[in-house]
Amino acid sequence: MPRNYDIAELRRLDIAHHLPAQADWQEIEDLGGSRIITHAEGCYIHDGDGNRILDGMAGLWCVNVGYGRDELAEVAREQMLELPYYNSFFKTANAPAIMLADKIASLTGGRLPHVFFNSSGSEANDTILRMVRHYWQMKGEHSRTVIISRHNAYHGSTVAGVSMGGMKVMHGQGFPAPGILPMAGIEHVRQPYWYNEGRDMMPEDFGTACAQAIEDKILEVGPENVAAFIGEPVQGAGGVIIPPANYWPQVEAICRKYGILLVCDEVICGFGRTGNMWGHETMGIQPDMIAMAKGLSSGYLPISAVAVSAEIVKVIKTGGDFVHGYTYSGHPVASAVALRNIEIMEREGLVEKVRNETGPYLAKALAPLRDHPLVGEARSVGLLGAIEVVADKATGARFGGAEGTAGPLVRDICIRNGLMVRGIRDSIVMCPPLIITPAQIDELVGIIRKSLDEAEPKLRAIG
Ligand code: PMP
Repeated sequence: MPRNYDIAELRRLDIAHHLPAQADWQEIEDLGGSRIITHAEGCYIHDGDGNRILDGMAGLWCVNVGYGRDELAEVAREQMLELPYYNSFFKTANAPAIMLADKIASLTGGRLPHVFFNSSGSEANDTILRMVRHYWQMKGEHSRTVIISRHNAYHGSTVAGVSMGGMKVMHGQGFPAPGILPMAGIEHVRQPYWYNEGRDMMPEDFGTACAQAIEDKILEVGPENVAAFIGEPVQGAGGVIIPPANYWPQVEAICRKYGILLVCDEVICGFGRTGNMWGHETMGIQPDMIAMAKGLSSGYLPISAVAVSAEIVKVIKTGGDFVHGYTYSGHPVASAVALRNIEIMEREGLVEKVRNETGPYLAKALAPLRDHPLVGEARSVGLLGAIEVVADKATGARFGGAEGTAGPLVRDICIRNGLMVRGIRDSIVMCPPLIITPAQIDELVGIIRKSLDEAEPKLRAIG
């Protein structure tokens, strides 16, 4: 049973001492403190005010096996007692980390047989940036340093993550000058966001145009200077942007044409989210490196990994020490929990369930929302979905004349109605635990519809 917290006191301490991530601290103070999440089970979270909320975001795109798994707690306890910690710096390793590396390699079909561990998605992407550039240096192609990414991509909150990411608002904070990219040698190209940027074209033509933008950038920079292209198979934090089906295969062909490494950030898409083990499988491509985190341990402990091709590792092995890694790389407890988490996914057939049952069910449940006067588009792949909230369905015009008004308003109403979703600009995005049932999907979509109905007069008053 949950502990009996003094919620008012926790809120006071939250304001006095705790600085929440990615948040407006003044706003939280004005609100009287954060919403305190006290406990959770299955697909539901509970807050200190006694609300039971359907977690339409699986925490932060991560709690894939749902909350309250005894066996993950048990395996952590056993591992803590046997070996709570040891590093992998001193030519040492531990059993759970090695077994997890083997497991991840097999989940890539053996195509990415080597695995480097970190603790977060951001760190995984830092590892990728250093590994990619080091690889080209070891190959003697010293000019190949540029990494091409996309506007509105999310690759994390460390300096390398923010730089490879395409979030302008993040580029504007904490770096030498607003508008100057934090790190040199990173180039951004347009994103395959059909609803916002390509509705005057057929999706396939738009997909080709977005892939072409990558080739144009390669030619502008000079192919001999380009190290890698990095992208999320489906952009998550950017607003669940599902590219036209022909986009990724063309991107892959362009990377191959110019001998550029293809990197997929699978931090959200990995571990069944899109109905296959990896987002890149859903997109029909084969990358040279992938980053994974979140679903790797279902968020029960912090752990991330980078899976790498044999060719890259072979070249890096010619260069002596790869002087990169973290105190918690290959953490035994996090590795043991991740291994058991993957075992649960396999035992319960969660990837197949998303592919064959709940993914198609979510798509079918969202479809009727397209008739709602506020819905410009409802899209999903697997258990990843988004609804575009618009003032005018015909033109796609947004409330208040620009994006950013409707999303937060509808999200807040959804939360009040018992559903945790995220408002990204004017999209309501969802990413429920992979254990969600069809009845819970009906609950999720029902709350969204009810909340849109409630939001409509408020939004029409704004205009
Ligand atoms: N890459 C992607 C695609 C992500 O969605 C995220 C987190 N939302 C990250 C990287 C960063 O992961 P973390 O917050 O664990 O550093």
